[in-house]
Amino acid sequence: MTTFSNQQEGQQYIDPSETPSDVSQSETTNIQNSRTIVVTSGKGGVGKTTATANLGMSIARLGYRVALIDADIGLRNLDLLLGLENRILYTAMDILDGQCRLDQALIRDKRWKNLSLLSISKNRQRYNVTRKNMENLVKSIASLGYQFVLVDCPAGIDVGFINAISPAQEALIVTTPEITAIRDADRVAGLLEANGIYNVKLLVNRVRPDMIQRNDMMSVRDVQEMLGIPLLGAIPEDNHVIISTNRGEPLVLKKKLTLSGIAFENAARRLIGKQDYFIDLTTPYKGVFQKVQELFFG
Ligand code: ADP
Ligand code: MG
Repeated sequence: MTTFSNQQEGQQYIDPSETPSDVSQSETTNIQNSRTIVVTSGKGGVGKTTATANLGMSIARLGYRVALIDADIGLRNLDLLLGLENRILYTAMDILDGQCRLDQALIRDKRWKNLSLLSISKNRQRYNVTRKNMENLVKSIASLGYQFVLVDCPAGIDVGFINAISPAQEALIVTTPEITAIRDADRVAGLLEANGIYNVKLLVNRVRPDMIQRNDMMSVRDVQEMLGIPLLGAIPEDNHVIISTNRGEPLVLKKKLTLSGIAFENAARRLIGKQDYFIDLTTPYKGVFQKVQELFFG
């Protein structure tokens, strides 16, 4: 039986069907092959949860095993974006309280079984997760063979943020091209570095090419240069994002992809190391939009 609780901190997921030597060898290999990426921003409402859902779904569709962790406390909504809200019976808090096993709290997606979701807490649950708890949870998930663990970080930079970043080796900073979001993103970049996370990439969300052309919005390149973080992708402002949120169906699942859906897929490919959809940094919008237009209109 899986054992994982506060009382047994430091203990890893143990499957009794394996012999001790098998366990340590396969678990160690799994953990080594796994990437834990925290999706963070500082400012709330910039698109962390949207990015986590769409990148996670894209990477799963590319054939990898992906676990998403909703570390947003009190404002849980990754389950809604994935349409899994009715399937969550247990959260990580229940695992830590000894109420359930990890596999009971790890909810598999209806469409892509290699995608799973773990919520840290229910909306009104008290929150007493520690950094060590988070690290052990992620280790246990990785030891199950998940190649990617994406942690959807709560807004702000308090205890929830510190806990969410503690198991990650990599971070994705999401910002919009607004000065308030950029300032918070910069602050978060400093905090990530102070906590030993040096592999950081940038996702600029809610980009409006029309406003950039009128000089009413900073370009992706301006944002990237201000922050000095390598760009993973730029996502346009798109009403389909809101529609997909309401339907509980990530954009990247649509048969006819929208601009934002293509941009998320593009970012996911780059996250797994494929360079074929590289965004042209010198003319970022032309890069993204021309490519998309070519796809749609030939
Ligand atoms: P966060 O997790 O950072 O708080 P969310 O992902 O919940 O942010 O997004 C906040 C709101 O912004 C949601 O209503 C979402 O639908 C909307 N949103 C996010 N990205 C876009 C986009 N590219 N275009 C339009 N709306 C977006
Ligand atoms: Mg969120």
